Amino acid sequence: MRCSKRKCLNPAIIYQKYSGLHLCEAHFIEDVERKAKKEIRKELMIERGDKIAVALSGGKDSSALLYMLKKIFHPRSDLEFFAIAVDEGIKGFRSVTLKNAENITKELEVELHTFSFEKEFGFTLDEIAAKGFEQAPCTFCGVLRRKVIETKAKELGATKVVTAHNLDDEVQTISINYIRGDIERLSRLRGRREEFVPRIKPLRGVPEKEVALYALVAGIPISTVQCPYAKLSFRFTVKKMLNEFEMKHPGTKYSLLRGYERLSEFLPTAQPGRKLLRCERCGEASASRICKACEIVERMRSRKS
Ligand code: SF4
Ligand code: ZN
Repeated sequence: MRCSKRKCLNPAIIYQKYSGLHLCEAHFIEDVERKAKKEIRKELMIERGDKIAVALSGGKDSSALLYMLKKIFHPRSDLEFFAIAVDEGIKGFRSVTLKNAENITKELEVELHTFSFEKEFGFTLDEIAAKGFEQAPCTFCGVLRRKVIETKAKELGATKVVTAHNLDDEVQTISINYIRGDIERLSRLRGRREEFVPRIKPLRGVPEKEVALYALVAGIPISTVQCPYAKLSFRFTVKKMLNEFEMKHPGTKYSLLRGYERLSEFLPTAQPGRKLLRCERCGEASASRICKACEIVERMRSRKS
């Protein structure tokens, strides 16, 4: 099959069911990067002199993102990029992806700062999982990782934080909140708060499979190790459901995202003005008296055996 782009005679490497297009390697790369640039422009402009922290796990998404950012912004000498990696302490998994993170940052000449749950909070994710809380480990992991990235980005002087959430991640989060009826979280997903370093998700409009193909084409080594806890999460069930929908009804993920974007204009906390509290333990901005991360630390302390 040939590329669908006008006058292009190259063989296609992908068929996008949702757009009906066959794309060759060059046009595919162009398409992914166009979507990322559009998202950066729409979400939040990169400004002169920005110091940009890239949340890097060493998995395919964040590695591809770092590569892409360096490629897109290569001519901009006024911008500074650095990477933040978080070692949650997941045996047999994180050490592999962190090695990837080290390799790619070395190759792209980006400074890498690695922090661990163990050092920051006093326990690893494996230790949390061993406590047998009723929530899945991902719930704790997400809260703590976000906290580390936020505080360290701030400490390191970042003016923007870039994360590698792709289309699939984003519509999973939207769907999870719909299913739970969690309107507060749904609106927080989009709203920007001055208390936090502004976040950009350039891959938000790119399907997960295409991020993987982009990484493959760019020659980024992709590790096949999976987090052992992923399957325990509610997200995993939602992910399977959405993939099934997308197979039967191509374009479902995009329409979910667009529908949410339209809806978010009407959601309450997307409106500015409502002040956040300060966490009594750590002083970070928080929706409640004690932030979620400090709450986890307390729960771990009280379960020490
Ligand atoms: Fe953490 Fe869950 Fe991701 Fe594993 S799958 S790294 S536990 S959020
Ligand atoms: Zn706190």
